[in-house]
Amino acid sequence: AVRAEPLPAPLDASKLTITLADTLKPIPAAEDLVFGKHMSDHMMVSTYHPVTGWSAPEIKPYGPFVLDPVSSCFQYSTNLFEGMKAYINPEGKPQLFRPDMNMARMRRSRDRVALPAFDTDELLKLIQKLVAVEQRWIPNAPGHSLYVRPTIIGTRPSLGVAPSDHAILYVVCCPTGPFFRVSRMLSLMAVAEHVRSWPGGTGGYKLAGNYAPTFMPQAEAAKKGYDQVLWCIGDKITEAGAMNFFVSIRRDDGDIDVYTPPNDGLILPGVTRDSIMRLMSAHGTSTTLAGIAEKLHVAEREIHIADIARWAAEGRLLEVFTVGTAVVVASVGRIGVEGKPDLELPKHDGQMGPLARAVHTKLTNIQWGHEQFEGWSVV
Ligand code: PMP
Repeated sequence: AVRAEPLPAPLDASKLTITLADTLKPIPAAEDLVFGKHMSDHMMVSTYHPVTGWSAPEIKPYGPFVLDPVSSCFQYSTNLFEGMKAYINPEGKPQLFRPDMNMARMRRSRDRVALPAFDTDELLKLIQKLVAVEQRWIPNAPGHSLYVRPTIIGTRPSLGVAPSDHAILYVVCCPTGPFFRVSRMLSLMAVAEHVRSWPGGTGGYKLAGNYAPTFMPQAEAAKKGYDQVLWCIGDKITEAGAMNFFVSIRRDDGDIDVYTPPNDGLILPGVTRDSIMRLMSAHGTSTTLAGIAEKLHVAEREIHIADIARWAAEGRLLEVFTVGTAVVVASVGRIGVEGKPDLELPKHDGQMGPLARAVHTKLTNIQWGHEQFEGWSVV
């Protein structure tokens, strides 16, 4: 007798079927990688129907979806995603970095746009399977990894303005190299005319709809010669491009204060941001940042453009840097402010300040499995 499953069915990784591609794609040489362009051979897919629930997950050859033109995702932007990386550790095994953080953020994003719920522990198991299937796509070159993009799209086939009770959950992957081939400092253009987030808004969630409105300001910043937009609300800094923001200043007692804007809904709470705050808090106790002898005091606080200008004028400004899964850590060399001369920041060696470099080294050592820290690596 076949026991009737409760409906709608939950997402269940134990029901996974795997269909491998007949022909595998050639893998581009590490130096030819363009981020997001070379998708791997397979993808993981499960679809949600309001009566039957989540379908048995499939890993199958990468390929297009056929969708109704009035699918909720096309009309009302019921889309969200995550960005995480798989690294090859020194034992030659793939490992993820703090995937529980991405899963928790994905749950919050999903709840915010009322897409069908599922157990993210099951999704994580499916991601681990997919990464295992795609292991040959993880470049075994320094600074390289496999970028993993879990996505949910609402597929309710109706123009009615309502939550999408149909969805596709999928995961795709692409190999990725270091953000900069040659490390250098970033330039940022402070933008307050266009805001990325606002109190009570959705800037704190990783919704696809947050990104489209950033492209025009980003293109304008690029035209004016800046790498990224520094997203501000008035004079208050939130984050930069798709990266969180940090500043370090010398205290009167010689210690170093490190500040980052608070997680108050106006920033995306980055996994890298949280990790760096934890590493800095542990500095001098359970961890040491190579080359940084000073005591670090890391804190969340509001940071205004005027603060940066004042700290610079007082000679106390040490470093400004941005952090995220893609860049890991990048130092900022100048900030453009409308109607004013650029704020020139300490240049160090023109590449990275000592704190940014130490944090970058520590974090990448943990991500690539050369060091362990608090169970952050998941093989
Ligand atoms: N802010 C935004 C807007 C982002 O898209 C990202 C990338 N996810 C980040 C910050 C950095 O977050 P994480 O460290 O989790 O990559």
